[in-house]
Amino acid sequence: MSSQPALSIPRGSRYILARARVPAELVQHPPAGVAQDAEGALLLDVLVDHGRIGGLFPAGRAPGAATVDLEGRHLWPAFVDMHTHLDCGHTIPRVRPDGTIHGGFSLTAEDWPRWSEEDLALRMDFGLACAHGHGVAAVRSHVDSETLAHSQRHWRALDLARRNWAGRVDLQGVTICAMEAWLGEEARALADLAADMGGILGGVTDTLDRGENGTYDALALALDRVFALAKERGLDVDLHVDQTEDLTAFTIPEIARARLRSGFQGKVVLGHCVNLALMPPRVIEGTLALAREADLAFVSMPTPMMYLMDRKPGRTPRWRGVTAANEIRAAGLPLAIGGDNCRDAWYAYGDHDMLDTLKQAIRIFQADEPMTGALSMASRVPADLIRRPDLGRIGVGLPANLVIFQARSLNVLLSRDQADRIVLSHGKRVTGGLPKHHELERALGLVDPVFS
Ligand SMILES: [Zn+2]
Repeated sequence: MSSQPALSIPRGSRYILARARVPAELVQHPPAGVAQDAEGALLLDVLVDHGRIGGLFPAGRAPGAATVDLEGRHLWPAFVDMHTHLDCGHTIPRVRPDGTIHGGFSLTAEDWPRWSEEDLALRMDFGLACAHGHGVAAVRSHVDSETLAHSQRHWRALDLARRNWAGRVDLQGVTICAMEAWLGEEARALADLAADMGGILGGVTDTLDRGENGTYDALALALDRVFALAKERGLDVDLHVDQTEDLTAFTIPEIARARLRSGFQGKVVLGHCVNLALMPPRVIEGTLALAREADLAFVSMPTPMMYLMDRKPGRTPRWRGVTAANEIRAAGLPLAIGGDNCRDAWYAYGDHDMLDTLKQAIRIFQADEPMTGALSMASRVPADLIRRPDLGRIGVGLPANLVIFQARSLNVLLSRDQADRIVLSHGKRVTGGLPKHHELERALGLVDPVFS
């Protein structure tokens, strides 16, 4: 096998990435007269100028400047991962997951006493370094906020990481707690804490059972409270919704009704919603019509849901574990994908690689044949949902946060792992590679018994 010569990215502040292949759905305002390949990619020359996209031209037509000839390689905007749990992540091997939701919660809670500020900083930093190396430019992370005392430490760690990584991986936090927390005395202080640290509000909606009459009275009150607190502070809302096979726990309609009566104008994102896929078609259709009326958006985490859902001892799963993704998209509702948990009590694997998440999503949802719009689930859609319309697309004037792949077709890009991708952050090549797991373990005081 002959290896192709490595691409050399100029150190100067102005250069052209010539003959790049960019999926049309990831280009904002493409120039006229651009050739398109059979897989829907545009052939472009991209001018990078002082860390931004200075111009887009039909391939071979850019004027002047030093040139890197991509020879038809794929060039994508950096990814956005809008649903992670950096504070839980990378606790393996001190935590051994059992593959269940119950285990996810209880093993995480057992680990909480070890979450010192240093422990959190090391693990969150590792997660963000992985994301950066894979070409992720922004991350939203849910911050365990069960009690105010716990959450202050978690939020301080997130805030430190947010400052350290700003401009490379922009980070935003979201409260995650049982919805009961929003009915308690600490609710206002928790909302203030999130707001002070640039975060937004969330919670787990299926923790509150229905009342004796079968209605979600307590949940409705908690949702009213969240929307009121978010409205007062100008924050968006991002909820964990119905991550369960239990069809009696179905809170999307309650959230939609609460949103409609609240007058809340911010964005409302619903994560997971997996049991929606198990509902009869009539219920799915009615629920999505209500969701559209209430201007709700969705985010699905296909990889960990394949791991967690429909797991029964000695039995092969019958269900892919994901929400009704194609129905959501067909209803015209925004659907993003996220990485979710990574090497922790909830999910045993992962590397904060949104290309891997996208490849899994396309296969698990069958979001291909045709692929139209599917690529945006990992970039353009989540960028809009976290209010970063400057990310997740390639357009004139936007930051040159880009990923160059060796693949020269979309099929190859989605087939081979693309571990040799080149990441550009504000026009500069990201060097240094991915962080090493054994170094993290050593820093966390986890001794490898083979070498001890
Ligand atoms: Zn989650």
